Amino acid sequence: MQTFPVARIDLAALKHNLQQVRHYAPESQVMAVIKANAYGHGVFEVARALEESDAFAVARLSEGLLLRRNGIGKPIVILEGVSDLNELELAAKHKLSPVIHHQHHLELFSQIATSDKMSFCWLMVETGMHRLGIAAEQVEQALSVLARSQVIDGPIGLMSHFANADSIGDVRNESQLTVMLQLAEQTGLEVCMANSAALISLSQSQQQWVRPGLMLYGVSPFDDKCGEALGLKPAMQLVSSLIAVYALKAGDEVGYGGTWRASKDQRVGVVSIGYGDGYSRHLSAKGHVIIHGIKLPVIGRVSMDTICIDLSACPDAAVGDEVVLWGHERLPVEQVAQQIGTIAYEPLSVLAERVRREYHYG
Ligand SMILES: *Cc1c(COP(=O)(O)O)cnc(C)c1O
Repeated sequence: MQTFPVARIDLAALKHNLQQVRHYAPESQVMAVIKANAYGHGVFEVARALEESDAFAVARLSEGLLLRRNGIGKPIVILEGVSDLNELELAAKHKLSPVIHHQHHLELFSQIATSDKMSFCWLMVETGMHRLGIAAEQVEQALSVLARSQVIDGPIGLMSHFANADSIGDVRNESQLTVMLQLAEQTGLEVCMANSAALISLSQSQQQWVRPGLMLYGVSPFDDKCGEALGLKPAMQLVSSLIAVYALKAGDEVGYGGTWRASKDQRVGVVSIGYGDGYSRHLSAKGHVIIHGIKLPVIGRVSMDTICIDLSACPDAAVGDEVVLWGHERLPVEQVAQQIGTIAYEPLSVLAERVRREYHYG
């Protein structure tokens, strides 16, 4: 009997979702974003399942190095770039592509003296988000500096990121895109701009490269839709099991703080999952689980390792029964995220290491 939480990952769903990306953006190459342990899904298995993408992107140099050490040979973009010359040399040595997003990167690319070459390079342009990127007016000058860099061997592409892609029809998306397309015309360089939300809802943003993350995992970037409505298959189901079932008398309190009190004699179950696994404490007295296909409420506070469930609607529930925490058609992770007051990116990417990932195909 399995009594610990498990994230079941469907590798066939990942492949299906990559096909859906190609269906939405048939003319574009796909840079699959697998940062933060592939949004919690396990980066090595995901990288293998998505081997038909054209490149990968991660946030940090350490993530890129880990992929190289595990035999992943595809182009890998480091979205946060590097911080000093040592890191740039390390990136070059391992054929990683740190994004150039700040003036100080131009100096590093001028200073570097190495025989290693980088043939897949991206310049991040600031078009309205004001996070990372070189100002649009400075792009020409940046390109002329980079043209003299010893390490760059191949064309540079232009990257930018939408601040409001999940807000469909928002004029700010159009204006960011306009800045980018003008630069592309001036320079003749390739463009990589669209994340999941943009590539679905703003097809002009697709260009030569798209850069999806969330949709590859079968999850919707829009707060009024689930992945399935977009033709995606959720790749993760989070399950655990009932480790205790007991009877309460009316008036008994449950959990830390005694915040929940039985109004009648009833049965309660304890599930092995808690905030120490990444199951948010904000789901206290708010979340739901599925047992035997029945949706049941979380009662009292979420503890580090356990939650308590009101079993009134499921009289057959017994110790050892499977409990679905998310990734069920009646309990998608998008819905769980909404109950926490966040977006699905967060519960997925903070899923703890102690939650075992199990992989299956279809
Ligand atoms: C995370 C990230 C993405 C992927 O975005 P999704 O919304 O998950 O598709 C793309 N580009 C950048 C710069 C990112 O940081």
